Amino acid sequence: MPVRSLELVLVNTPIGALGSGRGGGVELTLASLIQGLVRRNHRVTLVSAKGSTLPSGCSGVSLVEVEGVDQPSWQHADADSAVLIPRNGLLPALWEAALRCGKNADAVINFGYDWLPLWLTPWVQPRLFHLISMGDVAKVMREAIESVASSHPQRLAFHTRRQAADFQLPGTARVVGNGFDLSNYCLQMSCDGPLGWAGRIAPEKGLEDAARAAAALGESLLVWGLREDPAYADAVEAMVPTGTIQWMGFQSTHELQRQLGSCRALINTPKWNEAYGNVVVEALACGVPVVAYDRGGPGELITSGETGWLVSPDDVQALVTALGHVDQIDRLKCREWVEKNATCDVFSARVEAWIRDGLEGDVSIT
Ligand code: UDP
Repeated sequence: MPVRSLELVLVNTPIGALGSGRGGGVELTLASLIQGLVRRNHRVTLVSAKGSTLPSGCSGVSLVEVEGVDQPSWQHADADSAVLIPRNGLLPALWEAALRCGKNADAVINFGYDWLPLWLTPWVQPRLFHLISMGDVAKVMREAIESVASSHPQRLAFHTRRQAADFQLPGTARVVGNGFDLSNYCLQMSCDGPLGWAGRIAPEKGLEDAARAAAALGESLLVWGLREDPAYADAVEAMVPTGTIQWMGFQSTHELQRQLGSCRALINTPKWNEAYGNVVVEALACGVPVVAYDRGGPGELITSGETGWLVSPDDVQALVTALGHVDQIDRLKCREWVEKNATCDVFSARVEAWIRDGLEGDVSIT
């Protein structure tokens, strides 16, 4: 029997328009999921900030654009932070539109890490699903996530098991990974290039440890990413010999993969429970082995000895030692891991299965 295609409303994060880069890793997730869902013949509506652009080949997707003031990010919130919604906020505007569009949809999928859509879940008729994009950052958010987990466990999904482990869930977490459009990433086989690091330049990303490891080897470190915290960037630069860090700026995916692909290894040194680690998979897609701390998503994505090396968190000397062994990693194996585990198609199939299971077993405890 042919399977019925789904009518899905996807709601972008209330930080920036899709394509602006302000939404960070979530933008890449959403763009690749839209592509995958369209290929699987689902009808997709995207609710997003004004000025959003759809990924190529997705002209059949309806775009509902909404205006409002960006939501502050939870990324740097304290454990006791309160929920803040600015005047004329984008967050309530997005959800007004999403609930309207969602009336006749099979499901509404939330990609923002925000309190409001979680809180709405038991009280509205549209079926809200949430792909949680971060680990535990603030109590009020953790409680909102755990409350949905206890009333509507099938409405939540996570990127990795390690991310999900931050939350008390009644059963096994639904893990959907992430997806990448591999046509955007070229495999590069040369293995004598420089060392690289990529990510937002912010304390939770731990650039200082990668810089120290490069300095210990007497090498420079190519650094790509948004300079989110300039004072932190300056402090890291001052910790290592002049010229160790080569700032490469924030590049488009096309440029990033071209430059990153020439690296011998990517160093990934998160200080927080990274939910996934897009840059890890992007490096692997280019054939670049990753030497990372065995913490958060990267610790689950890298197969130590096969696609890179995992070392004890916060151990710079272990990074240095592991970097000496990257020549043992077959760059083709890195690419193959992504082809098998993290394409748009693999990811969208997992998301579809999550939504179908959730719709089938829909027991609302309200
Ligand atoms: N990125 C980019 N250009 C750069 C550096 C990073 O487009 O020069 C993107 C990268 O492709 C990734 C995102 O920034 O999708 C960072 O996502 P990640 O999951 O690594 O961390 P987050 O910033 O979401 O915590």
